[in-house]
Parts: sequence; structure tokens; C-alpha cells
Amino acid sequence: MDLLNTLVDKGLRRELPSREEALAVLATSDDDLLDVVAAAGKVRRKWFGRRVKLNYLVNLKSGLCPEDCSYCSQRLGSKAEILKYTWLKPEDASKAAAAGVAGGAKRVCLVASGRGPTDRDIDRVSKTIEAIKEQNEDVEVCACLGLLSNGQAERLRAAGADAYNHNLNTSEATYGGITTTHTYADRVDTVQQAQAAGMSACSGLIAGMGETDEDLVDVVFSLRALDPDSVPVNFLIPFEGTPLAKEWNLTPQRALRILAMVRFVCPDVEVRLAGGREVHLRSMQPLALHLVNSIFLGDYLTSEGQEGKADLDMIADAGFEVEGAGETTLPAHRADAVAAAGCGGGSCGPCGDDSPTVAASEAVAGQDARTDLVAVRRRGAGTDLPPNA
Ligand code: SF4
Repeated sequence: MDLLNTLVDKGLRRELPSREEALAVLATSDDDLLDVVAAAGKVRRKWFGRRVKLNYLVNLKSGLCPEDCSYCSQRLGSKAEILKYTWLKPEDASKAAAAGVAGGAKRVCLVASGRGPTDRDIDRVSKTIEAIKEQNEDVEVCACLGLLSNGQAERLRAAGADAYNHNLNTSEATYGGITTTHTYADRVDTVQQAQAAGMSACSGLIAGMGETDEDLVDVVFSLRALDPDSVPVNFLIPFEGTPLAKEWNLTPQRALRILAMVRFVCPDVEVRLAGGREVHLRSMQPLALHLVNSIFLGDYLTSEGQEGKADLDMIADAGFEVEGAGETTLPAHRADAVAAAGCGGGSCGPCGDDSPTVAASEAVAGQDARTDLVAVRRRGAGTDLPPNA
């Protein structure tokens, strides 16, 4: 297919595809799916070989958020029966992080619900980062605390944070339909503050919220322009008790086409398979490893993922290898730029839940609501049970 040959050539040269080419990837048929995966896989292997970076989420503070992000189970008014707790103590967060590192994670993502941190919250998170780095000097730490105010990014960087995550989530045009309590511009501003402070920026999207192909291409092109080092791709987990609970729009094939499009547009960036992979890719998850070079190990913020051992088995069975602590994630030209800015690498994870208003889409005909695959997290941080890692 000419389209795929062109996209591979551009990906190997780090050249931006046209919008039409990115849209055409999303419009390919199921008959062409393996060709699309093989083509994007060439680009993935050029920049990242067969390495898979493992990342581990620690939810420092769960639920009770005053913001109204429609996709989020932690949002204001969410009826999802998730764990709700306030800030974990630094030693407890460090213990949770250690479980992920022992399981093979080289990055720990410290996430807290809320609009953004207070200066006191930055103190707490700084102590947590110090506690984690005391135990594991080499672990990369990414903070994901919401919108940052002046000076907070610098304080996190000084405390040892290597990266900061703040996702754009969806296109600028549809952002107001997803969230009313903050703006798309607020999100862009926080990513830029993190970059200016010398932290590696992580910013990604959530697919499956009823958006159009044009919206998906818009947000991925906006991410490329923002130039984060890592791009997590989340697939909406339609939690019962949230406004998007009926948005079952994704097939495994569609999810793979979205990942391939992201890889073509962001060829040398850490593309991370994030929340929703078990729910939407299901038994097709191993094919996604040909497209992404990074995944979360174990559980998500408010839902359970597949067992950590199953993640490791999947990577080995598919012929990939877990990236070691001594290996550099990013290709040399990007890693050098990050080092020059004085930081480490990376990215971070999903939040999320509720308050509808995207172009309300009916669930795609024929897509079963797989509510049986959505398990609220009941282990790890904030519970007495050991974490999944
Ligand atoms: S994504 Fe969830 S936790 Fe984060 S600001 Fe929005 S509602 Fe709050």
C-alpha cells in the first residue's frame, strides 16, 4: 500500500505525516490491519528496538476531586464505587513504588486527584520523591498532580522529579464538552511549565470518548507540536457511575489503528499503552507491542489491570524484552536533548472520569459493553492488600 510505504519512510526520517495520511490510517479496513501494524512496527523498531519500558502507577490521593472531567471516576459527583483516600504517607507511597520496581518498572508515576497541588502538597510529594529515591536511586519519578502554579514545577524538579505528566486528552475543539472546570489552554500551559523547569514532559490522550477521527488526529498533532518525550494513549474505561459509562466505542482493531497513527505521527517518542488496554484490546494486546514501546505494569489508578506476571509473560511470548534500568529509553537525539535540559526521560498516566458533553455518540453498533472487564481497584495503595506488580 503506497500510504504505508510513505508513512514508514517518513517515520524513519522523523518527518511529520500529513493530516490526510494520519486520517487514512484510521480509515483502513480490518483486512489491512496486519499491514498497518507491520508498517508502524518498522518505525517502532527503528527508534526503540524490541524494548518495552515498564511504568508503575501509585495513586497518592484517590477520588474526591472538585473537577468535572467526564471520563474520570474520581470526578465531582462520580457514583463509581472507587477507593477514596487522602494523601498516602511518603513511606507508604515508597513501599508501593518499591513493589513496582521489584516487578521490573523503571519509572514510578506519582498521581494525585485534584485540580492542582497546593504548596503544602508539593512539600508532601517532595518528601515522597526523596523517600523513593533513597530506596531506589535509579528509578525515574514522574509526578502527575494536575495544573501547576508558578514555581511548583521548579520545586518538583529540585526535589528529584524527572518528569511531569499532564494529558491533553482530546482535541481543543471538543475539550469544553469533556470538562468545564478548566480549559485546554490550562493543560497546555502546565505541560510547558514542566518543560521550562527541565522536567521531561509526558502528555497523551484518551480515545473512545465519542470523538471523531479528526479530533483524534487533532490531539495527536497538537501533542507532536508540544513535543513531550512520552505520549500515553488511554482507551476510555467507561466506569458505571460516570457520564461516559455508555461509551463503548472501541474495537481491538480500532484501538490498534489509533496506536499505529500515534506511532506514525510521533515516531521517536515513547508511546505508552496506558489505561483500558485489557478492556479494549483484550486478547489482541500482544499486537500492540509492535506499536508502543512502553506500558503500565499492574493496576491503574482506580481500576485493576491484568496480573503483573501476565504482563511480563505477554512481553516475553511476543518476542519483546523488558527495558533494563541501565538502558536509555529515548533515541540518542532525544535523550541528549533531555540530558542537556538537566533531566531524565519520560511520562505518566491516566486519571479520570465524568460529566458528558462530547458529541454524544451512541455505542458503536455491535460493540458489546464489556462491563465484566472493568474491575474497581481493591488492592495496593490505600488498602491493606499487597499491590499487583
Ligand atoms: S482527571 Fe479526574 S482526578 Fe484529574 S482533575 Fe479531572 S476529575 Fe480530577
